[in-house]
Amino acid sequence: MTRNVVLPRTGVGIDVHAFAPENDPQPLWLGGLFWEGEQGLSGHSDGDCVAHAAADALFSACGIGDLGTHFGTDRPEFAGASGVKLLGEAARIVREAGFEIGNVAVQFVANRPKFGPRREESQLVLSEAAGAPVSVTATTSDGLGFTGRGEGISAVATALVYPASAHEAAASESGPAKGAPHA
Ligand SMILES: [Zn+2]
Repeated sequence: MTRNVVLPRTGVGIDVHAFAPENDPQPLWLGGLFWEGEQGLSGHSDGDCVAHAAADALFSACGIGDLGTHFGTDRPEFAGASGVKLLGEAARIVREAGFEIGNVAVQFVANRPKFGPRREESQLVLSEAAGAPVSVTATTSDGLGFTGRGEGISAVATALVYPASAHEAAASESGPAKGAPHA
C-alpha cells in the first residue's frame, strides 16, 4: 500500500522601490510600520517593499502568479493600497486557492531605517495580516550598489505553504484525498 506524501511548497519574491526625490518627499512605510522623519519610497502604493515581497512569495509558493497577476489594473480597488492590506488580501487569495501558510521570511537591504528596535513590532503587524508567522530581518550591502548608495530599498522573501487538505490526505490510507483527481 502506498502512502500519499504531501510536500510543502516554497516560494520567492523580490521587491524594490526607489527613495522619493527630495522635491517630492513621501512618508516612509516599511514592514507595515510608519517611520517618522525617514525619507519615503516612491511607488503607486505606499512602496512597502517588505510587505510586497512577502505577498509575492506567497503567490509564488502556490504557483498562482505574482503581485501583478492579482493586483494589476483589473483590481482598481487595490491601486494605492497599503502593503499590509495587499499582504492580507494575498493571504486570503492563497487560502481560497486551497493552501495554508506555514511561514514567510523577509529580509530587506538598506542603510536606513534602523530596524532592530522595531523588528518585533513589524513582525506582529505583518503576521496579523498574513494570519501566519512573518519574520523580518535587515541588512546592508556594505556601501555597494543602489542600496549602498542610499537610492532605494530592496527586499527578498521566501514563503512556505502546504495544501489545506494535507491533514485529510495524510489520514487517508486508501488513496487520494476526496476530490483529488485520479492518476
Ligand atoms: Zn512594491
